[in-house]
Amino acid sequence: SATFSDTDAAPPRSLHLLPVAVNTPAHSGVGDLLSYASSAPLPPGTLVRVPLGAREVLGIVWDAPETPQSLPAGVQPRAIAGVLQGIAPLAPAWRRLVAFAARYYQRALGEVALAALPPQLRDLDPEQLQRRLRRTQAPVPAAGTIKPIAHSAEQSTAIAQIDVHPGPFLLFGSTGSGKTEVYLHCVARALAADPQAQALILVPEINLTPQLEARVRARFAPLYGDAALVGMHSGMTPAQRLKSWLAAHTGAARIVLGTRMAVFASLPHLALIVVDEEHDASYKQQEGARYNARDLALWRGREQGAKVILGSATPSLESWHASRPPSEDDPQGGRYQRLYMPSRIGAGALPRVRILDMGQQPRHSVFAPPLLAAITERVQRGEQCLVLLNRRGFAPVLHCHACGWKSDCPHCSAHQVFHKLDRTLRCHHCGAASRVPRACPSCGNPDIVPIGRGTEQLEEQLARLLRNVVVEPAGRAARVARIDADTTRAKGALEEQLAQVHAGEVDVLVGTQMIAKGHDFRRITLVAAVQPDGALFSSDFRAPERLFALLMQAAGRAGRDAQYTAASEQPAEMWIQTWHPEHPVYATLRRHDWPAFAGQQLAERREAGMPPFAHQALVRADARSQEVAQAFLSAAADAARAAGLPGLDLVHLFPPVPLAVQRVAGVERAQMLLESPSRAALQAFLAAWQGVLHAERPQHKGLVRWLVDVDPQAI
Ligand code: ADP
Ligand code: ZN
Ligand code: ZN
Repeated sequence: SATFSDTDAAPPRSLHLLPVAVNTPAHSGVGDLLSYASSAPLPPGTLVRVPLGAREVLGIVWDAPETPQSLPAGVQPRAIAGVLQGIAPLAPAWRRLVAFAARYYQRALGEVALAALPPQLRDLDPEQLQRRLRRTQAPVPAAGTIKPIAHSAEQSTAIAQIDVHPGPFLLFGSTGSGKTEVYLHCVARALAADPQAQALILVPEINLTPQLEARVRARFAPLYGDAALVGMHSGMTPAQRLKSWLAAHTGAARIVLGTRMAVFASLPHLALIVVDEEHDASYKQQEGARYNARDLALWRGREQGAKVILGSATPSLESWHASRPPSEDDPQGGRYQRLYMPSRIGAGALPRVRILDMGQQPRHSVFAPPLLAAITERVQRGEQCLVLLNRRGFAPVLHCHACGWKSDCPHCSAHQVFHKLDRTLRCHHCGAASRVPRACPSCGNPDIVPIGRGTEQLEEQLARLLRNVVVEPAGRAARVARIDADTTRAKGALEEQLAQVHAGEVDVLVGTQMIAKGHDFRRITLVAAVQPDGALFSSDFRAPERLFALLMQAAGRAGRDAQYTAASEQPAEMWIQTWHPEHPVYATLRRHDWPAFAGQQLAERREAGMPPFAHQALVRADARSQEVAQAFLSAAADAARAAGLPGLDLVHLFPPVPLAVQRVAGVERAQMLLESPSRAALQAFLAAWQGVLHAERPQHKGLVRWLVDVDPQAI
């Protein structure tokens, strides 16, 4: 095995017993630092290789524990196998961030710490690592200047506020109001003020990084060199990730642009954090340590003295509430500074929202006649339309009317979705796929039919409906294209398809939420949501908030180019087909009135004692049967009450219930909701409960696993 320096293999004589964080799944909760012997007193934060069982693994020397960890009598500590030379120890601020995240999200410290490092750091031999380090370039101050941009009055005001206040800030600005320009200006200021300063820019999705990266590069490469900006997201190769990580850690990178994982980047000189589209659910990690990168960014900013700017056109209700201005009843106001930028720059006015009552339309019409007419007109004039349906595939289920058979997934409590192009039935939960049967597998009836519709079907129907439409002035036939997870599986496919849209080769773009976010489509003048109602009646209390945000985002794709829109005979439009035209979501959306919508939602949440007026956690159990899963949760709750755990007086434990999709891949799933008006009480309870859950587990045969989700995004 690789030896990284000349430390002895056997325990040295004069021992320094060092606490080392390693990723040991067996260790959870407390006490997940292991003691290793070293002849030299290595500083905390040093990256080391240590033996663990029969393997040798990467570890991080942690701070000395408050009470020295004494090994049981007669147990010899194993020696540290080697030190990763040439890499400065991870800074105390970074270690505090990791320790906080592990504690807050109820995970092992070593797991969170090691997951925050690039995977290649674990695997490279010393020479390879040294080569990589040598290649990490220090920034070249390339003597360029930035052409100053005349800011709008709203931008200037926001920038001035950010200058004088410590923050954190919630930049509440319409799509196209120039938020990104504000971020970049603040980054420029921070980097200019201190030759070492670093900035972190978080975006919710990989898809959105290339466009922003190009913009950031164009702005800063002339000043600081190309190496001063690095990306950090899961779409990068392990080698690229290591390179970016080293650049950030050594300070060579001045700007890190990445998805949620980048919140853990080692940035010793961090001065500014931007969280773009801060409301986006993608900031929440949905496996392992279920952290929220936005929330960690706020914590990190406070700890490391970095300013934090959250930006959104539809802020999360948490951030909206936290940034409430002081009022008579509430002279303190919220903790964040709220900044307003309602006007669009360079773009046309926000699109006119048209709510189409489907109760007044011919039955069974996918596209109500007025919407189809509007799309046709736009396409004929050479304008682009975007049609949103948040469900991929051709139809969500196949059905036999003769016997009632449905295309159920054999492993999940869900239907297999009908994909017409490759004639498969596919489960979107477990991935199980099969050929579409020629006849009903149950009764042999050859006439099995799709029910409901997905993007594939919409694309097909629209192409048929528009087949005789001629696009002027080109005089060619109208073209319909689709972008969703199915069309973009291949690497580079999304970029290629987006390029076709930008080049005007597509007249109507059909897609899922993937196309609603962020993209700077210049020529789209009409956006339509054909079937958004489902979210109104979801059991998840955040569903209306999500729907509003999604539709607002989608609306933001229309009329982005003022010149283009002005040339049109009609202003940009957002059409919504609904059976519930009076629903408050649509009533406020029509006025683009996020504050009114947020106000209504917050009033309801306050009344019901829900977030942000309460704090939640979910404990989930997966088991061979629903009974076992629920019995485990009930027993753990009973044990907690019997033990009188701290915080319990302020924490409400709801009875266990099955998840909405109860069975996935043959495993039954149940969850228990915990709610408390006090975050501290909930945290104290969860920390104490870990031990109970661990102790309870062996008594439940058939239990597959359990996990805790703190501040869950979906209930
Ligand atoms: P947002 O991030 O709020 O969607 P952007 O920062 O992307 O908005 O700005 C929208 C458009 O307006 C972009 O094309 C951008 O280059 C342009 N823009 C932003 N600020 C200015 C400004 N002060 N002057 C001219 N154009 C601007
Ligand atoms: Zn049948
Ligand atoms: Zn399945």
